[in-house]
Amino acid sequence: MNVNQFVKHNIHGVDTSVAIRIDYDKCVGCQMCAKACMDQQKIGSLGVAPLRTPPYLHSVTGKNHENTETSRVKMMDTNCIGCGQCAVNCSTGAMQPANKCSDIQVAKAQGLTLVAVMAPSTRVGVAEAMGMGIGFSAEAQTVAGLRQLGFHYVFDNLWGADLTTIEDAKEVLKFREAGKGPVFTSCCPAWINLVETKYPEVIPNVSTARSPTGMTCAVIKKFWAKQINKRPEDIFVVGVMPCTAKKFEAIRPQLMTENVKDCDLSITTREVVELFKEERLVFSEEREQKLRNVQEGQFDAPFNVYSGSSYLFGRTGGVTESVVRYMCALNKEQFTPSVIQNNLLWESTDKFQSLRVFEFPCGGSNYRAIVCHGGAAVEELMKIHAAGKLKGVDVVEVMVCPQGCVGGGGQPKIGKKSLTAQRPAGLDKHDKESQFADCQSNALMHEMVKKWMPTEHNIHDALHTHYDNRRMK
Ligand code: SF4
Ligand code: SF4
Ligand code: SF4
Repeated sequence: MNVNQFVKHNIHGVDTSVAIRIDYDKCVGCQMCAKACMDQQKIGSLGVAPLRTPPYLHSVTGKNHENTETSRVKMMDTNCIGCGQCAVNCSTGAMQPANKCSDIQVAKAQGLTLVAVMAPSTRVGVAEAMGMGIGFSAEAQTVAGLRQLGFHYVFDNLWGADLTTIEDAKEVLKFREAGKGPVFTSCCPAWINLVETKYPEVIPNVSTARSPTGMTCAVIKKFWAKQINKRPEDIFVVGVMPCTAKKFEAIRPQLMTENVKDCDLSITTREVVELFKEERLVFSEEREQKLRNVQEGQFDAPFNVYSGSSYLFGRTGGVTESVVRYMCALNKEQFTPSVIQNNLLWESTDKFQSLRVFEFPCGGSNYRAIVCHGGAAVEELMKIHAAGKLKGVDVVEVMVCPQGCVGGGGQPKIGKKSLTAQRPAGLDKHDKESQFADCQSNALMHEMVKKWMPTEHNIHDALHTHYDNRRMK
């Protein structure tokens, strides 16, 4: 059906950024995407246009932004950070994650070794989209489903989350010792895009530790490939993520091994669910329990051992709690959630975004963290930072999506926004059922790091990165 016969606009065709695409033929001009971009995320790549016309795109290249077929601004000319909140708010499917899943078939036809790397929130997003309900996990069925799609190996990005926790903790201590804090976390690629394009003055304070995906994919291409007698170009790594901005991260020139991308393709929860539906897979709690106990539903070694805390990376506050658990373990102190005092600093009027202050004692010192989620919260955070009010703060956890990655732009659409807060239940359950709570207890990962990256120089080379000033108007 061509919706243009019912609506006013005459703009046709598809336009795409790295992260998202708009199909103008499906756009009914409801402006929900523009409101998400402007009001919720405070980015303003999309501006509100008259009803029944597509959103205005704000150009950073100085071109006009009229709503006509011939003078249309292109997505790539905007300051889009790829958070995908426009796409989760579009009810017609006109705005979608930029889908390049066909590349998987191409890689398969070329005889490449297909490797999937799955993020924490993906398993709860897949469960929801496959009809299991909100707050459930379809971890084992997603692993089995990826095997059915032809992946030779399925790895858990939770392994990378443990590694990120350690490298982030080192950064926190380094900045504190130098009196140069706070350090801002770097797991969220939409935040990194925002730093580079709008707040480049913050770059010296952003942790150089790669995101969990950045670390896992680098280790796969740099070290594990050799273990299976492959070159980096023989392996096609696909991130299966809740996140549209990971598509930007995948093409960062800093994240390569021997001129080959560490992550060849990043697909979202919604895209993998489409592939599962094409395969006519049916998910249920009963099938989940069965697959958990057989190899088909289990992640492959060696990236299959991780702490409970790594699951928490999928929700706001999770990176900070992982770091606190690790620091407590290093100091041989008992971690309980009550170790962290948690106070509200700012909250959006709809209560879906916030800035919270976490304070915790460790090794005889007191630490202070700020946990920030949502685009409007980031804007508030930057105002506080510019006013010099982050002095005495050791670390700031920044996630651009409301509620963190469980609310990512590649996650299933949700009827009521408030229901997003129920998604972490599936991750918290995994955490409680885990063999060990903190990454210090992940002996196998420590052994792998020692074998593959014996010096701090090796670690820095493989697991850290740098950022560029790409300031835009
Ligand atoms: S992806 Fe985010 S920044 Fe880009 S247009 Fe959509 S809401 Fe705006
Ligand atoms: S939310 Fe979707 S249908 Fe509505 S204006 Fe945006 S792209 Fe068009
Ligand atoms: S909060 Fe998570 S899902 Fe959202 S952009 Fe950042 S990393 Fe991606």
